[in-house]
Amino acid sequence: MNLRSILRPIKRSLLSRGYSAPVHIFLEELKVGIPTSFHPVDGSFLVNLSFDLELGLNSPFWERGSVEALHLGKLSKNNLLPTLSFLGEKEVPCNVQIVCGLLDHNFITSSFLSDDQRNLITKHDDLFQFSQDEHTALAGKNVEVGIHGFSHRRFSTLSQKEAQKEVTKSVELITDTFGHSPRFMSFPKNNIQYSRFLSAAGINAWRGSRQGVYSSGEVPVGLWFAPGNISPRDLACILKEIRELQPQGFFLHLWGHFTEMNRNTLADMVTVIRDGGFSFTTISNYIES
Ligand SMILES: [Zn+2]
Repeated sequence: MNLRSILRPIKRSLLSRGYSAPVHIFLEELKVGIPTSFHPVDGSFLVNLSFDLELGLNSPFWERGSVEALHLGKLSKNNLLPTLSFLGEKEVPCNVQIVCGLLDHNFITSSFLSDDQRNLITKHDDLFQFSQDEHTALAGKNVEVGIHGFSHRRFSTLSQKEAQKEVTKSVELITDTFGHSPRFMSFPKNNIQYSRFLSAAGINAWRGSRQGVYSSGEVPVGLWFAPGNISPRDLACILKEIRELQPQGFFLHLWGHFTEMNRNTLADMVTVIRDGGFSFTTISNYIES
């Protein structure tokens, strides 16, 4: 054990009552009072699990180097089926946003790819596409499939035309693959731009970047659902605090990646959420109910 790993928990408990900084900020915002227009006021307490699925494709790690991207892609692949089958068994509804380039057999010809990226995808082609079993799991009745861009590039780096193309192409690919159109989008890297184009493509909600939301369709960002950010013990305390601070009801969006959580940790989290008196919902079920 090095000095940093000894000091980190001490620093954490002094600065943020033992929580990670983002969780601490979230709870502080809740204390001050965030706009409630999005949240239920009928005493219901809801959790939405939302996974961005990119298999390492054009992730920030890709920008830093292919070795890290491949490592994350493989981890994500390994966790994908166990996670979805666990959630299916436990009847936990969830949202999964797909980088839709992964559904396109011609993705490799995209002009924005570098030669290195193209070579890497060709060399690991089974990593950058879904197997039949994965398709079946993603089409499961407890999964609401949404979009996470076509190329996984930040929307702030795209022209208006490129952004529109990313959205329409993604909607087309989801509709062709799963037989119904997507309703929800998470912007790559939560970098929100051009949200005004979404409704024309049938997308009526997207993950925002803040807790208080002011425009219709924007979903409060909630919390990053990664073991490094929230432990099951943290989550139990967070849910208790939410119920005390927002007794009229709350919708907690928990978002992350399949790379970040194994089945056992996820199982602990699901138990904590149910024991905390929260039930699970998808974005569309909540918004459209
Ligand atoms: Zn992403």
